[in-house]
Amino acid sequence: MTRINELLKNNKAGTYQGSINVGNDTELPFIHIIGNKPGPRLLITAGVHGSEFCSIEAALRLKNLDSAHLSGSVFVLPILNVNGFYQRSIFVFPEDNKNLNRVFPGKEQGSKSERLAFWLTQNVFPSFDAYIDLHGGDLVESLSPFTLFPRNNAKAQALAKTFGLPHAVSTDGHGYTLDAAEQVGLPGIIAEVSGNGLWAENTVEQLTLGIYRVLNFLNITQSDVPVLDTNKIAVVDLWIPKAPATGLWYPFFTLEEEVRHGDILGEIRAVSGEILETITSDFDGRVLYYLTSLSVTVGDALIGIAHH
Ligand SMILES: [Zn+2]
Repeated sequence: MTRINELLKNNKAGTYQGSINVGNDTELPFIHIIGNKPGPRLLITAGVHGSEFCSIEAALRLKNLDSAHLSGSVFVLPILNVNGFYQRSIFVFPEDNKNLNRVFPGKEQGSKSERLAFWLTQNVFPSFDAYIDLHGGDLVESLSPFTLFPRNNAKAQALAKTFGLPHAVSTDGHGYTLDAAEQVGLPGIIAEVSGNGLWAENTVEQLTLGIYRVLNFLNITQSDVPVLDTNKIAVVDLWIPKAPATGLWYPFFTLEEEVRHGDILGEIRAVSGEILETITSDFDGRVLYYLTSLSVTVGDALIGIAHH
């Protein structure tokens, strides 16, 4: 078991794997690929949400990068929520029932997810030049591939466009990996591919290709990946209405469908069938995400509408 400082000081070319001590008896798996030549350092995390398996599999496959052809290094933390991964928990850490991607920049003396957020913000983010946080639809979410980047961050927007998923979403939320990274000067993106926790060769490949494009863009590699017209990638905002009631969720639209301002996006009904709430769209746009579970709890994210 290694500590982060020793690990990041290493500059001997090669591929290293093991577990890293993040304090309080917590250890995380890591993969560190150090190139033959110096260059930028890319950080990649996955498994912030332990059941987004496609992102975790894509992160694990990065051990196949050849250090002999790297200028710089790639540091991968493939499963941040280890117990959530094995227990297949949705969104949260089983230890404290909190969503890691809402508690950044974390707390030194906080609960499990808050301490991990603090450790990442303090000890990991400042050592890197670029950051990709891999996600996907959790067990109850269907989604169409997109990236997220902090609004008005030109470096992060360039990474999002380079990654190559069809929509790049500009965000200004707080508590996320991305904005904590931005606070310490690290440009980062979130990449979202696949839904309902599913993973398959083609969806893992979509993430892998995006990562390889970013590696080329940063001149860490010069690999042979298809060139993309980044002008075709739509930069959008994502509007996500939250459930105003607990009940049963009936969405009326599916992925990629166009919606108009005022359209009924879905209903929340009681067990009796009585309509409790009607969700209407505030925008003209396109469905990038929706909650697939029949059960819904007040405050849940119901549907994501990409709009300009
Ligand atoms: Zn996620």
